[in-house]
This record gives sequence, C-alpha cells and structure tokens, in this order.
Amino acid sequence: MIVVGAGLIGLTLGRELHQRGFRVLIFDRGEAGRDASWAGAGVLAGMLTSNPALRPLALAGAKLYPVWAADLERETYLSVGYRRSGTIIMGGEPQADWEPVDAQALEPEVRTPAGAQAWLLRDDHSVDNRAVVRALVASVRARGVELREHTPVEAIEVGASAAVVVAGGERTAATVVINAAGAWAGGIPAPFDIPVRPRKGQMLRLKTPLRLQRVVEAPGVYLVPREGGRILVGATVEDVGFNREVDLNVITELRQRAEALVPALVGAEMEECWSGLRPCAPDELPIIGPTSAAGYWVATAHYRDGILLAPLTAKIVTNALREGRLTQALDLKPFLPRRFERVG
Ligand SMILES: Cc1cc2nc3c(=O)[nH]c(=O)nc-3n(C[C@H](O)[C@H](O)[C@H](O)COP(=O)(O)OP(=O)(O)OC[C@H]3O[C@@H](n4cnc5c(N)ncnc54)[C@H](O)[C@@H]3O)c2cc1C
Repeated sequence: MIVVGAGLIGLTLGRELHQRGFRVLIFDRGEAGRDASWAGAGVLAGMLTSNPALRPLALAGAKLYPVWAADLERETYLSVGYRRSGTIIMGGEPQADWEPVDAQALEPEVRTPAGAQAWLLRDDHSVDNRAVVRALVASVRARGVELREHTPVEAIEVGASAAVVVAGGERTAATVVINAAGAWAGGIPAPFDIPVRPRKGQMLRLKTPLRLQRVVEAPGVYLVPREGGRILVGATVEDVGFNREVDLNVITELRQRAEALVPALVGAEMEECWSGLRPCAPDELPIIGPTSAAGYWVATAHYRDGILLAPLTAKIVTNALREGRLTQALDLKPFLPRRFERVG
C-alpha cells in the first residue's frame, strides 16, 4: 500500500494498515504532520459539528477516540494530551444533549456575553494534535512503516494490475495508492479529479498563569486549554486559496475576542501565531473510499474535523481494503469519491 501525504490522516491510516498486516510506504513532500495537522486546535467536537450530514461520522469518530488515543500512548510511551473535561458553549441553538449551566460556576474567569445562555457538552473532549503527530511518527517508524519525507509525489497512475506513484524520479508500484495529501490532494495529476480546496485558519497560543479546565466556545472565538498554562485561541475560516500569510490584525482581533470572554487573559504572553490550510470539498464533507480508477483511493477533505476523524477514517479504509467492501455500520455513501464523478 502507498499512502500519499503524512498528515494526521495519512499517518493514522499508515499505522492502521500496518497493524492489519499490510506493507506500507508513506510519502510526504515535507516533514510529516507539519501542515493542517500541526495547525489545528485538537477539539474533538463530536456533538458540535455544524454540518448535520457529518454528525453520524463525527459521533462515531468521537466514540472511537479515547481507546485509540490510549492505545497510541501505551505503544509509544508518549502523551497525546487527551482531555475529557467537556466544552462550554456560549449562545447558539441548543441540541438535545446540551445542558444549561452557569459558566462562571465552572470556569470562574469566563464572562458570559450579555443575554447569552451557556451550555455544557459534558462528554466533548480534546487532544494535543502536535503531540498526536509526534506519537504517530514514532509509532510508524518503530513498526517499520517506510516514511519517505521530503519526497513530493508528482503523479499517480493506474495500470492493469497496479497503481503507480511517481516521486523523486522513481516509479513505485502498489496494489492500492491512497491520496491523503490534504488541501493539496487535488493538485497531484491522477486518474480521478479530487475537488478539494484549502480553507485557511489562523490562530494563536497564549501563556498564562490562568488555569482553564474546559474548551470554551463563543461567537467568533474559541479557547482550548493545553498543558503548562497554555491556551489556544482560534480560529478563522477563510477562502483565500493557498495563501498562508498570518495577518497580525486578524490575530489581534481574535485575541481581543478571547480577552472579552476571559478578561484575565489581558497581558498574557503570545507565544506563537500561525495559519493552516484545512482540506475542504465543495459540499464540506470528507472524501473517503475507492475512486472509479482501480487501485486509486482517497482519504481527504476532512475540513474542520480531520483530527477528530483520523482514527475512524483509518478504520473505514483499512476494513474496506481487508474485506473488499465498505463494511462499516455507518452509511458512507455521502462521503464516497464517486459523488464527484462526472457523468457522460
Ligand atoms: C486553524 C485550524 C484549526 C483546526 N481545528 C481543528 C479541531 O479543533 N479539530 C479537528 O478535528 N480538526 C481541526 N482542524 C482541521 C484538521 O487540522 C484537518 O482536517 C486535518 O489536519 C487534515 O489532515 P490531513 O492529513 O488531511 O492534512 P494535512 O495535515 O495538511 O496533511 C497533508 C500532508 O500531505 C502532504 N502533501 C501535500 N502534497 C503532497 C505531495 N504532492 N506529495 C507528498 N505529500 C504531499 C503535506 O506535506 C502534508 O503533510 C483545524 C485546522 C486548522 C487549520
């Protein structure tokens, strides 16, 4: 098996395929896990997904996560910063399982915006996505998965009996090639066009003596606690192509929203600000499964939920490749590549 792209999707998939007995080679054009998967916030928002069509997948992904994360930690002896402390949401349309709360009773430094009701999603969780990347790289290396970094894939071809990846002046054949190249997946010449586009997100990290226990979401901003007094402040969603520039005016605006929500953050040191490109399909749903070109598969377009959906995506693809059909109990039709097949 060849996996193109070593983001969270490609790495998780490579590890799962190897665990289930496949020989795996992963290509990345740069350092593994340093694109969207490094830039994300690590909120595992199973209950919060904005797109109703994604909800069954998001809930299944969230259910799988704790066991998957514990297994990765056990294997690598590396923490992935998994937290199950819940999410507080300010305002918004409540869903059945949202519980009304006094936000300040739970997080004394948080100020609820005037007129807004606060809700608690008790079971929502988060992870340190950069720590997950590190653990996955350690895992695949220790297992003997071949990870070829700094080797961009220039083309994917399919022949009668094998798929071929052209990279670094070499042609490498495999029974199946899976394109997991994130926002760049559609730019690799291949026998099936993947209509994936980048959606930029900018965010920042503050260091503060303040201890926040839970993820807090309010209109236009969210806060994600990390170890060591760090708080992530996110995030924009911008349709600006492959432009990755960090705009300090935008960062300042995010910071001001964070300070309005938690005034104790005024004066906190900003350690880092950055941007990343989320892979997004025209219908904003993931693209997972085989294409019409035999041996060519896709696992991308996870948009705002790729950290959450990586373990589930890996299981779906690996089960399908092991058993020759998509066997998940979930209805996967809305996510299959063939929905973008041109007819005629
Ligand atoms: C600001 C921000 C906040 C986010 N917050 C969350 C969140 O809280 N929760 C959540 O679940 N998701 C979140 N996301 C979304 C999540 O980060 C992405 O959906 C996920 O990381 C996508 O993973 P990926 O592996 O598909 O893509 P990437 O991580 O971008 O990986 C793609 C890889 O493909 C490689 N590649 C590209 N072209 C080639 C080529 N030609 N040959 C070889 N390799 C190639 C790249 O180098 C890269 O390593 C966020 C994203 C951003 C930007």
